[in-house]
Amino acid sequence: MDHEKTGALIAARRRELKLTQDQLAERLGVTGKAVSKWERGQGCPDVSLLPGLSETLGIQIEQLLAGAAPVNRPDGGNMKRLRFFVCPQCGGVFTASKNGEITCCGRKLEPLAVKEADEAHAPSVEEIEDDWYLAFPHPMEKDHHILFAAHLRFDRVMLIRLYPEQDPCVRLPKMPKGELYFYCTRDGLMKIKL
Ligand SMILES: [Zn+2]
Ligand SMILES: [Zn+2]
Repeated sequence: MDHEKTGALIAARRRELKLTQDQLAERLGVTGKAVSKWERGQGCPDVSLLPGLSETLGIQIEQLLAGAAPVNRPDGGNMKRLRFFVCPQCGGVFTASKNGEITCCGRKLEPLAVKEADEAHAPSVEEIEDDWYLAFPHPMEKDHHILFAAHLRFDRVMLIRLYPEQDPCVRLPKMPKGELYFYCTRDGLMKIKL
C-alpha cells in the first residue's frame, strides 16, 4: 500500500462527499486524528476498517489500496484476481489486484501462493439465519493459528482478522458463488468454495 496515494484518495473522496475528518472518523469508529494521519500519508487504515471505508467512500478496496481513483475497465473490480500478502515482520495483511505491489516495513512483499484447503484446515460450514458460520479445526496458538479469513466474490471482499487464543470461528453474511480464502501462519494460504 502506498500510504501517500491512499491518503490522498481518502481525502479527495471525503471532500467530495462533504464530510469532515471527524464525521468520517465517527462512521468508522476511529478518531479524527487517525483519519488526519491517513490523509497525510503517515499511516494506513487497519485492514479491518477497509470494508467500512470502502462502503462509506464508495471506493472499492483494491482501489483504496492502490490509491487510484476508480477507472472503468471491463475487468475492473474482479475480486477473483485479488492477491494476498502478509508482512513477515509486522504480520500486516494486505490485498492487491493483479499488478498491484505491496511494500511493508521497508520491503516489497511477494504475493502468497494459494492451495486447496486440506483436512487439517478446511472449516466446517453451518448456516445460521442469513450467515455462514465457519469453524476451523485448527489450533489458535501464537506460532500456529489462522491469521485471517477472507470471503471473495467477483465484486467484493470481506476480510476478517483472527488472533491467537480466540475461537477459530468466523461468521459471514451468505453470498452466493463465493470463495473463502484463509491463511495459516504455518501452512500458508488456502481456499475453499462456498
Ligand atoms: Zn510490515
Ligand atoms: Zn495450520
